[in-house]
Amino acid sequence: MIIFRLGHRIERDKRTSTHVALVGRLFGMKKFIYSGDKDESLEKSIKKVYDEWGGSAEIEYCKNSLKTLKNLKKDNVIIHLTMYGIRFEEYIEEVKKIKNMVIVVGASKVPNEVYKIADYNLAITNQPHSEISALGIFLYSIKPPENYTGKLMIIPQKNGKKVMRI
Ligand code: SAM
Repeated sequence: MIIFRLGHRIERDKRTSTHVALVGRLFGMKKFIYSGDKDESLEKSIKKVYDEWGGSAEIEYCKNSLKTLKNLKKDNVIIHLTMYGIRFEEYIEEVKKIKNMVIVVGASKVPNEVYKIADYNLAITNQPHSEISALGIFLYSIKPPENYTGKLMIIPQKNGKKVMRI
């Protein structure tokens, strides 16, 4: 599964884009692609979480998002999350069967072409909320979260925090 984050803006989206990638990681993302501003510090923040908490994924910056999406469409199903789309609940069982998918989320205005390139334009309700929330709800409904082994491991506590360094 590939997560494609459109239109990243260094000033506004660093935390949001990092969190989009972290949601992807939780559900086994193999590659994180982002367009918009090239941002070394975004890439570093994502890599740091993989390094400490386990797992691995490619991180790729793309200059021309439409061209890249069209290329990806050759061997992936493109799922665009948008509040303007069709309610996702109707498609959960269908989407669960897809082997190779690219999940696209926006930041600023999403170009109209993306809606046309996408195989599915799916809404997590038709209310505006956020890419982190939309991606989390969507992924949680189609697959279980991964169990990672990394340098850090949490020992669950009823109260307080216990983190082991392995
Ligand atoms: N106004 C922008 C547009 O649609 O052109 C999007 C801004 S929104 C804060 C950023 C992203 O969050 C969207 O591109 C979409 O991927 C996701 N998102 C927000 N609300 C959503 C919803 N109800 N269903 C699915 N995705 C949603």
